[in-house]
Amino acid sequence: MSTLVVQNAAIATVDAAGTEYEAGHVVVESGRITAVGPGPAPRVEGTAGARVVDGTGCLVTPGLVNTHHHLYQWITRGLAQDAALFGWLVELYPIWARLTEDTLGAAARGGLAWLAKTGCTTSADHHYVFPRGGGDLLGAEIEAARQIGLRFQPTRGSMDRGVSDGGLPPDEVVERLDDILAASQDAITRYHDPSFDSMLRIGLAPCSPFSVSSDLMVQSASLAREHGVRLHTHLAETLDEESFCLATHGCTPAEYADKLGWLGPDVWLAHCVHLSDSAIRRFADTGTGTAHCASSNARLGSGHARIKDLLAAGAPVGLGVDGAASQESGMLVEELRQSMYISRLRALSSDPAESLNARAALRLGTTGGAQVLGREAEIGSLEVGKLGDLALWDLNGLGHADIADPVAALVFGPPAPLKLLAVGGSPVVRDGVLLTADEDALARACRTAARTLMEVS
Ligand SMILES: [Zn+2]
Repeated sequence: MSTLVVQNAAIATVDAAGTEYEAGHVVVESGRITAVGPGPAPRVEGTAGARVVDGTGCLVTPGLVNTHHHLYQWITRGLAQDAALFGWLVELYPIWARLTEDTLGAAARGGLAWLAKTGCTTSADHHYVFPRGGGDLLGAEIEAARQIGLRFQPTRGSMDRGVSDGGLPPDEVVERLDDILAASQDAITRYHDPSFDSMLRIGLAPCSPFSVSSDLMVQSASLAREHGVRLHTHLAETLDEESFCLATHGCTPAEYADKLGWLGPDVWLAHCVHLSDSAIRRFADTGTGTAHCASSNARLGSGHARIKDLLAAGAPVGLGVDGAASQESGMLVEELRQSMYISRLRALSSDPAESLNARAALRLGTTGGAQVLGREAEIGSLEVGKLGDLALWDLNGLGHADIADPVAALVFGPPAPLKLLAVGGSPVVRDGVLLTADEDALARACRTAARTLMEVS
């Protein structure tokens, strides 16, 4: 494995002390960071073939970590434009019911390539639509991640509560509980790699309280804990969901999750917009993670999550783009700014200094995400011994050059082009160009897949 040296760049390590360098270096050898600090890089022994990148005018950050996505939605963007969550889902379920491994593969390559081009080195995915006869959908997205070259944390998702059982999804997109558990076991056995350098970890992820039975939640948690894999679901996204839980289970979504054993350090939950003070305390006490999806919550009018309160309580929080059908731009770098802005819109005080700032937002998108995915020992900050996942943002252009503070340029400014994106020291994007696939071919494949889904009646 070759050696990568980045030097003359501003560095935001996002370590616990928030160490930054105005001009410094990062060295990655055999996939791991071996040096980071101010000034020129130390001489790297025995590596005459080291790849040396001049980062003058650029900022190095840890690669961004995306904690919530539905990659299949990349080919169902721009639909149900003015609907709230339940209406949006009801409009989209019949289209998603036509997914196949081929259309999902195209969508996953497109969505992952776009994440790479916008600074992301690790992504989770929550895939829960498994139409009968659709083929190996989970395998298709895993193959896509291998091709694009991102570290991947897909979840074997599920729905078993269709309309006839009082749920929201149509019956043709839900599965039987036993089939789900067998497929979940199979996904763990075939794919889960718990190693430090792992490119692929599996999680289990029943979809949401209104599409999943309590039995499936409990049995998925038991299976995941038996194998040491993480648990994920949507929770407390909308007031409609809260009303559903109160009517069906007699408690709030957070209380429901708690009763089912679904709060804990091995659980991360998407959205968590509507949380009471006591729920926030429980999240902090149990180490339950939140995937904050600010743009999606705005797109669907779901509300503002209480991120500052969760952080103040000590609960882990990361950022997510969410599925591209409810967040068409799909760029995690934009979520840095969005999370900061939403936090300021939410604040009762009019003083922005009491809300998230640029560095806090960068922390959410890096170390926060790593913590939420259970990988804080390996990724999320630029420290010796961690994996060589980094983004080198080019701030030399018109969009950023006059902003003296590089972190402010990245977070407050427009999405910055990438001079380099590396995963384990291997370049995935260089000078804005995706190296692992032909971007134009991906776009054509996504357009064809989208038309295929829309044309079948
Ligand atoms: Zn979602």
